[in-house]
Amino acid sequence: MNAALPKTKLIATIGPASAGRGIIRRLLTSGVAAFRLNLSHGDLVQAAATIAAIRELSSQTGRQAAVLLDLPGPKMRLGVLAEPVAVSRHQEVIFCADDDQPAGAVCLPHDIEGLAKKVRPGDLIYIGDGMLQFRVKARHRGRIHAEALLAGVVRSHKGINIPTSDVKESSLTDYDRRCLAFAVEQRVDAVCISFVGRARDITAARELLPAGGTWHPCLVAKIERRQAVEAIDAILAEADAVMVARGDLGIELPLEEIPVLQKEIIAKANMLAKPVIVATQMLLSMVENTRPTRAEVTDVANAILDGADAVMFSEETAVGVAPVEVVRTARRIARRTERELLRPGCRAEQIRTNVRVSDQIEDMISSATHDVLANRSVALAVTPTSTGTTARRISRLRPRQWVVAITDNPTVRNILALSFGVLPLLAERIPPDRRAIAAFLRERGLAGRGDRLVVTNGEPGIPGSTNSLHVIDLS
Ligand code: PEP
Repeated sequence: MNAALPKTKLIATIGPASAGRGIIRRLLTSGVAAFRLNLSHGDLVQAAATIAAIRELSSQTGRQAAVLLDLPGPKMRLGVLAEPVAVSRHQEVIFCADDDQPAGAVCLPHDIEGLAKKVRPGDLIYIGDGMLQFRVKARHRGRIHAEALLAGVVRSHKGINIPTSDVKESSLTDYDRRCLAFAVEQRVDAVCISFVGRARDITAARELLPAGGTWHPCLVAKIERRQAVEAIDAILAEADAVMVARGDLGIELPLEEIPVLQKEIIAKANMLAKPVIVATQMLLSMVENTRPTRAEVTDVANAILDGADAVMFSEETAVGVAPVEVVRTARRIARRTERELLRPGCRAEQIRTNVRVSDQIEDMISSATHDVLANRSVALAVTPTSTGTTARRISRLRPRQWVVAITDNPTVRNILALSFGVLPLLAERIPPDRRAIAAFLRERGLAGRGDRLVVTNGEPGIPGSTNSLHVIDLS
């Protein structure tokens, strides 16, 4: 086990600044646990090449990293600007079709059908996660005339949000369906569903995956709409994991709601032992600088203290000046902060207290495993698992040691890749007894003579039957 790795899963978005093989290799060795490919940018041919590079470099470096495909969803975006456009406060701009740009005006092109019909004078249009704001003044022949409320620079493909317009009905677009078929073809580890509004959106995505079989990607519901916040319990029940997607969420809802919502969503996901990712603007100033602000460092640490399993970087690693330094910085913050998860009074302790009084066998076993792990002489927890339940339940108690989850089910491996402190390993067959488990770990250099392990056990071949644990000393 690499002791320098944080247990918080670090997710780096690949973009122009990080798509090269040299950078991917350095991101892997710096501690990236998963790469996100944002399908809002680039095409599927490019994505396939990036996935192939990630896999090849993962196996060359011996660093396992998951691949997350982020579906664009019904997100509206600007088209291509010949060059970035600087706007000043009160300046008039025209949102117009790509092929209808009036000469002499500041044009922000797009190819969204009927956009002008979806707004009314007075509506606010947000660009780039709200970094730029425009007030609609008038609509004229399919063009929207708007006034800039903030000064800034507009770039190609930036996201457009209009909170007053109901442009997003179902979360899966035709292109998302093609992307899901691509995800299946590529056997990616996780798929993030954008603009989920209700649990049905996750079910609809699941129905598009092949029926039967043991391989499915982990379906991550991105919580970025008011409707999703309102339906969070049903969405959590249906999804394999959730993402607090603060970029769009901070536009769909007042910004000041975000901190509390983040805590509430994480707490609910923790209680269900489902992985939860906190995303967007985590180390944003590192898009331009090699050091983050104190506030950003505190934000990453607070997400971990709140109970996030993973933190995700977007522009920081996709287009920033120092993608590798972003991951190294996050690794240092995570390693330092994770020590605090053991303190009395922390949120993880509240979960431990709740779980200790649960009458479910899975909770009793995970709680007992955690108690054993409180002893420093124990090096690792090992969970042979066909459902991942025990590993996820131990993970949410935030032990100091890693949880090695050995599974024969690729779907389970995919979900566990996003769980805090879990190293999921795929085996052709789950090792049936202690001797086989010890041999399995030794072969992979994860444990050796003198190591003490706590191993959970169930009836071999019977899912959900974990009901005992053993402490073993490897000789
Ligand atoms: C977000 O809105 O915070 C997010 C992660 O989604 P995207 O990067 O696709 O805008």
